[in-house]
Amino acid sequence: MEIDQNLKDNTNVAYISMEIAFDSNIPTYSGGLGVLAGDTVRSAADLEIPMVGICLCYSSGYFYQLFNEKGEQKEREIEWSFFYEFDKVEEPISMMIENKEIKVSAWLYRVIGQSGHVIPIYLLTTDVEGNEPWMHKLTGSLYDSTSRWNRICQEMILGIGGVRLLHSLGFNNIQTYHINEGHGAFSTLEIYRNYNNDIKKVKEKVAFTTHTPVPAGHDRFGLDLVKKVFIDRFPPEMLKLGMENGDLNMTILAMNSARYINGVSKKHGIVTRKMFPDYEIDAITNGVHLPFWISKPIKQIFDRKWPNWKSNPSILENAIEIDDLDLFDAHIENKFNLINYQKGHSWNLLDEELITIGFARRFATYKRAVLIFNDLDHLGKICKGKIQFIFAGKAHPKDQEGKGYIKKIFEAGEYLYDNYGVKVVMMENYNMDLAHMLVSGVDIWLNYPERYREASGTSGMKASLNGVLNLSVLDGWWIEGYHMNKSAGWAIGKFPEEYAKDETINDWKRDAQDIYDILENEVIPTYMNHDEWLFKAKNAISLAAYFNTHRMIEEYAEKAYKLKKQKPWKFTK
Ligand SMILES: *Cc1c(COP(=O)(O)O)cnc(C)c1O
Repeated sequence: MEIDQNLKDNTNVAYISMEIAFDSNIPTYSGGLGVLAGDTVRSAADLEIPMVGICLCYSSGYFYQLFNEKGEQKEREIEWSFFYEFDKVEEPISMMIENKEIKVSAWLYRVIGQSGHVIPIYLLTTDVEGNEPWMHKLTGSLYDSTSRWNRICQEMILGIGGVRLLHSLGFNNIQTYHINEGHGAFSTLEIYRNYNNDIKKVKEKVAFTTHTPVPAGHDRFGLDLVKKVFIDRFPPEMLKLGMENGDLNMTILAMNSARYINGVSKKHGIVTRKMFPDYEIDAITNGVHLPFWISKPIKQIFDRKWPNWKSNPSILENAIEIDDLDLFDAHIENKFNLINYQKGHSWNLLDEELITIGFARRFATYKRAVLIFNDLDHLGKICKGKIQFIFAGKAHPKDQEGKGYIKKIFEAGEYLYDNYGVKVVMMENYNMDLAHMLVSGVDIWLNYPERYREASGTSGMKASLNGVLNLSVLDGWWIEGYHMNKSAGWAIGKFPEEYAKDETINDWKRDAQDIYDILENEVIPTYMNHDEWLFKAKNAISLAAYFNTHRMIEEYAEKAYKLKKQKPWKFTK
């Protein structure tokens, strides 16, 4: 079934993202960026934002992760057949890569909001009849690490192909192209073309969100490569917008083409303005889609207490009114659920009685997965008989250091178990299903990225929603969360501005020591005192009143999309 023309005519926001996570088993994501994009479209659908989405359709996805007995990550290609869940777009468009004409088609996926509002998402593919064999593979896998050439081709397909396809499908009323991270910046070239090479028009139409202060997160392409794939089709006027130190920088291209730019937390806004002092950069703090990330037992409490909580999440400010016993039972149910699952999937069996600490995310090195193992004997003595750990996360196939961290977790786990009986398990193949279980089933959610490098982080918001306490460094969203409510969890170290000028900001030894102290002096005593623990858990839940994508998409609607409020939905704050 096609999308009807009426909906197309009303659609005025195009959301362009390299990853959008709809479902755990649809491999269109690798981590937080994709999950956030998924939550964004889910909330946009609930709030009836007139949006269409563009992403790529990866026939072999990211990868399936396995560990061998030494704790080494092994990657398997995913074979994924999506034909049953999607509708095929009949008419492919064509575009040029090098001197070849390539057909680009799409699979249509519908995100349906609470009131039935549909957001169509077109997942582009070059696996199209009539294409030469090498072309079929272009959209095959997410963040294909084999070559920069493949990467630039994928970004051309996403940006140029995406805008061209929307045009050919009859989306003729797009007022904002929201480029979600630099990958989609080539869309500006097609917009330029559509408006008769009027660069001012491009600037009227584009909003851009940057998601990482880590330099490796900003795509740069050498001019030789650009020339190879575009030949002479890159308008010089546009190329100028993207040039930085002799390379084409996708972030710079997007920023120079945008009428509105934002980072994804207050702190990230500040860091990004420092990185790019010549631009006006706003901040819209990330959120999570609450109905998607809430666990069943907690949802039952909300449903009983606040029947309208899904459309009015600000009501969760009153979370302190939740009945202690209800919350306790719900949490135990989540914890048993996780531990039962774990018992079926890992040799080292966790114990329901112990304080369970979870850490799961991409194993990018700046996230410092192994920080807590800095002093194994100290950690072992504190945790013995009291605390256990559960880890999960994928390292990018090319990231040897990240893979080394996974191995180190296995080794640390062996040492801690042999010497102190402390259990550490590492679960395979982190994905959204596992994330659901972890963020609700552990007692504490741990996060200690190098300060200034976590743009926002969202997994901690999912944990908080489910009454799980954050133990995190003050970076990204947790600066705001902890500032709002200090009873919602614990902070590792100080607020960033409290560090002395000559102090090392990311000192592993000091941070690890701080964690050990918090575990010993705060976490364990609090856990022993049910009332105190539940008080904190309820304060954690109250943060969800703000850290949700309904609030977030409203900010985008007003500031980035310039939409008028479609529905009365207001926050008390
Ligand atoms: C939420 C989520 C993330 C993001 O986690 P961060 O801790 O914010 O990095 C990554 N992967 C999956 C599967 C998620 O659900």
